[in-house]
Amino acid sequence: MVSEKEENCGLFGIFGDPEAVQKVYYGLYSLQHRGQEAAGIASSDGEFIQCCSGMGTVGRVFRKNSRRLEKLANPTAIGHVRYSTTGASKLINAQPLLSEYSRGQVAVAHNGNLINASLLRDEYEAYGSIFRSTTDTEVIIHLLAKPGHVANRDPLGHVLNHLQGAYCLLFLFEDRIEAARDPYGIHPLSIGQTERGSYVVASETCAFDAIGAKFIREVAPGEIVTLNKDGMRSRFFVKPGSITPAHCIFEHIYFSKQNSFLFGENVHEFRKKLGVQLAKEHPADADVVIPVPDSGTSSAVGFSAQSGVPFDMGLVRSHYIGRTFIAPSQEEREMAVRLKLAVIKEAVKGKRVAVVDDSIVRGTTTRGKIRALREAGAKEIHMRVSCPPIRYPCFYGIDFPTSEELLAHGRDLTQIAEFLEVDSVGYLSLEGLLDSAKLPGDHYCTACWSGSYRIPVDVALNKFAMEHYQMRMFDNLTDEDE
Ligand code: SF4
Repeated sequence: MVSEKEENCGLFGIFGDPEAVQKVYYGLYSLQHRGQEAAGIASSDGEFIQCCSGMGTVGRVFRKNSRRLEKLANPTAIGHVRYSTTGASKLINAQPLLSEYSRGQVAVAHNGNLINASLLRDEYEAYGSIFRSTTDTEVIIHLLAKPGHVANRDPLGHVLNHLQGAYCLLFLFEDRIEAARDPYGIHPLSIGQTERGSYVVASETCAFDAIGAKFIREVAPGEIVTLNKDGMRSRFFVKPGSITPAHCIFEHIYFSKQNSFLFGENVHEFRKKLGVQLAKEHPADADVVIPVPDSGTSSAVGFSAQSGVPFDMGLVRSHYIGRTFIAPSQEEREMAVRLKLAVIKEAVKGKRVAVVDDSIVRGTTTRGKIRALREAGAKEIHMRVSCPPIRYPCFYGIDFPTSEELLAHGRDLTQIAEFLEVDSVGYLSLEGLLDSAKLPGDHYCTACWSGSYRIPVDVALNKFAMEHYQMRMFDNLTDEDE
């Protein structure tokens, strides 16, 4: 399957560990599902920061025991895996972004989307600032370097108050890491600790599992956590509790890994609850429940348990078809779906099949899967979706298509079933989704279903706002470095 909804980015950082760079490398590997377009690591020896990034997956940019990793070997490091939500997929936009300003060096890694980035950039360019990338992240460095901001008692907290939108940020200064999360806490960011006592910070707790660190807590919305030689220190750049959070509930439904813990609960357990609720709201007369792996699997387990319809694996996913296979034509896309998700004929032949998926975006890849199941002999197909119909785009860092391209935009359930070529379709209700969550319903962003954006967005200024900034640069890493 070619994914219709792309991940945002993944962050990982560790302070004061003899194997810091190796741990960032493994941490980024475990966050690879959040972005495969580029990867980078910046590290500090306490006085000097160096950085290396490149296009592609972590394994492509950093080979284990390579000279690149050797050159980066320092006790403090941050890393980033990227999927471009603003700014094109080019080397100039790979992160961390390393810069030098009046206070020394700083490397920045960002997950999210700043909705006022183009306004800020235009303002700075009008005064002569030169930008070297087309990402929204670079405006943060310009804000940090502004003399009026540098002189502030807390320059970083002051700068963060100028940003609007979704952001989890890691700043690597020569002597410390600063981790910050936007006041709405849209995307996840957590703190952990290794057995040796080094503090780590990551987009998802699955990265702690990967390096044997234990989860301590989530970075709170509007909080800055400093990791330095004195340990961990916290401060807030907005009054704690003054803003109701708007956690991206799609992180739970689709983006995050099943073993991650975020917004107060485990992803797998949450998805199982969605499946249970979905079976209550939309039971299916079926002989077998099959998931669309991987993100639909946990919900299908819940659906099967609640409905009593046996669970089976009717689709098997290949993890070896990467983004390079994304194909421009419909025919090629359908071929990609077949390669990515193969049908196990014996599990579906002659059966009434309930297919559980986490979400449907454009619907074309789902229809490809349905056709493949029919060809394999499925007698009836009942599509069950563990989130409501997606009708609106996301401006907070998740790369959905425009409203017009979304299957559920302007279509009712009958039209959706016709498009998908299924015998029935049932979506989880928004109430059912929010009732299944641990936190109160108003603590989540649900804009892609409701169209109600908690942080007001000027649509004309966003989504592709940074794409008119054009820059070209070639990969200047040499083979010798690999
Ligand atoms: S609009 Fe949807 S995908 Fe975007 S942050 Fe809100 S819940 Fe998440």
